[in-house]
Amino acid sequence: MYDYLIVGSCLFGAVFAHEMKKKGKSCLVLERRGHAGGNVYCEEKDGINVHKYGAHIFHTSYKDVWEYVNGFVEFNNYVNSPVANFRGELYNLPFNMNTFTKLWPEVRTPAEAAARIEEERQLAGISEPQKLEEQAVSLIGRTVYEKLIKGYTEKQWGRACTELPAFIIKRLPVRYTFDNNYFNDRYQGIPVGGYNKLIDALLEGIEVRLNTDYLQDRENFDKLAQKIVYTGPIDEYFDYQLGRLEYRGLKFETERLEEENHQGVVVMNFTAREVPYTRIIEHKHFEFGKQPVTYVTREYPADWQPGEEAYYPVNNDKNQALYQQYADLAAKENNVIFGGRLAEYKYYDMDDVIKSALEQAAKE
Ligand code: FAD
Ligand code: UDP
Repeated sequence: MYDYLIVGSCLFGAVFAHEMKKKGKSCLVLERRGHAGGNVYCEEKDGINVHKYGAHIFHTSYKDVWEYVNGFVEFNNYVNSPVANFRGELYNLPFNMNTFTKLWPEVRTPAEAAARIEEERQLAGISEPQKLEEQAVSLIGRTVYEKLIKGYTEKQWGRACTELPAFIIKRLPVRYTFDNNYFNDRYQGIPVGGYNKLIDALLEGIEVRLNTDYLQDRENFDKLAQKIVYTGPIDEYFDYQLGRLEYRGLKFETERLEEENHQGVVVMNFTAREVPYTRIIEHKHFEFGKQPVTYVTREYPADWQPGEEAYYPVNNDKNQALYQQYADLAAKENNVIFGGRLAEYKYYDMDDVIKSALEQAAKE
């Protein structure tokens, strides 16, 4: 009999298992994929760590979380500075003075950029922004919205910007300085040698069963432990009894290229609607690789079907209301902890997941 049966081996499961082992508890981790680490898993090819499930940049303002992860693996000084490609025109991201001066060559100073954006804001006449479109236009004006946000967002989410929640766009900084750092967080980097180092260190000495789906044999697995920690999709746990939550899927197309440097940056976002992918990732630049070859991945957003990996929760009103009903059911489950991006149906970054797992473990 184990103290904890942990379903899912990504950061929530791995951090929770590590913390409980430290307290002398026994843990069994089940993972239905053929590897541990969920979406942060990397595959090494030609000495390059390929982020198999999309680019993962660790960034946080939680000092305790930063110190925690650095206790397992060293982080490099990578700073994410994506470039947007709108029909061949290149702009720096996030929205900052480099973006504004390229969009409007007559703009020279922060005051001029702010005046230009204010003019567009006035024209739009939005007083209390509700959904993403209004939020974006009132934050940054119509030109940036049309060229850098609308097409990208609508293909990413498969929904109109007038329907999507405003918080999605508030993830991106808007700055009146020449600063291309995509994040405002105090700490940022990539684990030297890739994310598997972090996951492997967290799971060291813990039994992990791969290719094992908890829901396929739930009754027997439940008998193995005092308590369950579930990090899979919450609606799947309840056998979709209240209906299906919607997720956004992704398709990845990875290619090896016989060149040293393909695009000169890790992330290039393709912001026009007619380009079917949202971004191209060139993995070697995460770790400043000098290999003679390179790997690039095109990321295509896709409708999600049951049985496929669920990448993003779609936090619009309809899904949020349904999630709340599932959360009420979850609260009534005895001896089950629901944690992480899919079980809490939340657009969590890695640091939030780690923080939440540490808090949950501290309560036990
Ligand atoms: P998940 O990653 O959802 O893992 C759940 C795990 O449980 C999976 O391994 C799954 O296979 C397993 N599982 C599910 N059901 C079962 C079952 N029934 N039986 C057994 N196993 C099961 N965050 C950042 O901080 N920075 C980034 O740059 C960033 N980029 C991202 C890019 C993409 C494309 C995506 C999709 C996410 C990104 N994230 C990023 C978010 C990050 O991936 C998540 O915060 C983190 O992976 C969440 O960890 P988790 O433990 O909650 O769960
Ligand atoms: N976004 C955009 N244009 C861009 C990059 C992002 O409009 O070039 C919007 C889009 O709606 C996206 C959101 O900002 O879903 C958050 O972007 P982020 O890079 O944080 O997305 P993630 O890496 O989580 O997919």
